[in-house]
Amino acid sequence: MLNIVLFGGPGSGKGTQSDKIVEKYGLHHISTGAVLRRHIKEGTEIGKKADEYISKGQLIPDEMMIDILEDVLETEKDTIKNGVIFDGFPRTIAQAEQLDKMLKTRGSGIDHVIGLEVPDQTLVERMLKRGAETGRADDNIDTITRRLGVYHDQTSPLRDYYIADGRYRQIDGEKAIDDIFSQISDVLDS
Ligand code: AMP
Repeated sequence: MLNIVLFGGPGSGKGTQSDKIVEKYGLHHISTGAVLRRHIKEGTEIGKKADEYISKGQLIPDEMMIDILEDVLETEKDTIKNGVIFDGFPRTIAQAEQLDKMLKTRGSGIDHVIGLEVPDQTLVERMLKRGAETGRADDNIDTITRRLGVYHDQTSPLRDYYIADGRYRQIDGEKAIDDIFSQISDVLDS
């Protein structure tokens, strides 16, 4: 079992690198953003509530988000064989603490936190490009600006949290996609 967190700002390349990790290492990919967008598309109660936060660039409250993740882990447990890539979770210290607890009760834990480090200017450019290409609703300049603010206020403190306990692996996320993946592979092969 190899469980990793892909950590980084919005637009840092977590989705792109997740696809490559899935292909090479056979890990199970859980993107909380994708789970929420699916709920919104299907018009579920969770989707309706989540949309209010996502459209404003805010985080879903911790308690709700943790319940959603517990549910995903339970529903998808039979497809988890080699481990999990957590993409977009945790985003707060409270979520990180709960994730450790959830995994501990399942007899595992987070082995590496892969930190994709990308300057804000590049993040904005990438998200604007993605918005234009995919039509993703929260990739517009107003929401992007708010998401970056939320990232710096609420999520980036997690970097120090994981550095302190020795799980953080710093990756230069501004390089080409394959160069970034090669840095990640070095960590996962170590
Ligand atoms: P993402 O696709 O990871 O960029 O997530 C898109 C949006 O979903 C975020 O801007 C948040 O509003 C919400 N979201 C995704 N994951 C979380 C999380 N772990 N905690 C709170 N909100 C989340």
